[in-house]
Amino acid sequence: MVYRTYQEVYREGEAQLRQAGIEEAALDARLLLEYVCGTDRNTLLAHGEREVSEAEYERYSGLIAQRASHIPLQHLTGEQEFMGLTFTVNNKVLVPRQDTEVLVEEALRHLHDGIRILDVGTGSGCILLSLLRYSNDCTGTGVDLSKEALAVARENYRRLREQRPDMEACFIESDLFAELQTGQQYEMIISNPPYIRTNVIDTLMPEVREHEPRMALDGQADGLYFYREITHRAGEYLTHGGMLFYEIGYDQAEDVCKIMEREGFWEIEVVKDFAGLDRVVYGNWR
Ligand code: GLN
Repeated sequence: MVYRTYQEVYREGEAQLRQAGIEEAALDARLLLEYVCGTDRNTLLAHGEREVSEAEYERYSGLIAQRASHIPLQHLTGEQEFMGLTFTVNNKVLVPRQDTEVLVEEALRHLHDGIRILDVGTGSGCILLSLLRYSNDCTGTGVDLSKEALAVARENYRRLREQRPDMEACFIESDLFAELQTGQQYEMIISNPPYIRTNVIDTLMPEVREHEPRMALDGQADGLYFYREITHRAGEYLTHGGMLFYEIGYDQAEDVCKIMEREGFWEIEVVKDFAGLDRVVYGNWR
């Protein structure tokens, strides 16, 4: 039996990830060790001499090997923090990004208690469920073309309802608006649609390009396909004065603003993310 300390095992994991060219080698090595040992972030600093059992070490080594092959960390732990909440994820949904918190924060600044919110291409449900979690008496509908994504969204809904039993959401398998009842109205429509140009996808990091669902990324040839489709139909489902919110790629603000103007939206605004890049566009329906 080999006695291995937490500190040693961590260093070994970090070195392996670094060698494999993983950007955040130290962070990912620590997070995986915490995941396997059920420890917190203080353990490495305060209790580096803690013993790592043979079973923990085996499991950790397996996960490090998988991470070294560029499987996203969140696919290994099955979780991602977003808006201070823990979301279940897998390879059927886009892993919630920090950039998308800008979208949620902006929408929260504009929503009122009791409104109806529609999230188009809901994926893990992280946008819709965060909005519901941090507001009162709003009701949410999330649509997605992917059954597997909807299963993840529903699981996240179930988990968040344990903290907030009054949360009210439903998730519908639908190609954009196709399965929504005509006449159904919402005060807010929000979407982080696939917006990467098809020919750019192969240049993304392997974690994204090989392990995240292409259907959540691919915005077709010019990356704008879903903005055109959603904006064109959104008016039918928005109340008078209702609002449409989008996450966008850093170079898409001008095009998305134009699409929204053309379809009759006004008071269109662009919001930047923490890196100073255009990240959100929103506007009012007539
Ligand atoms: N922001 C994501 C990425 O860079 C893309 C999200 C999207 O297409 N909606 O991978």
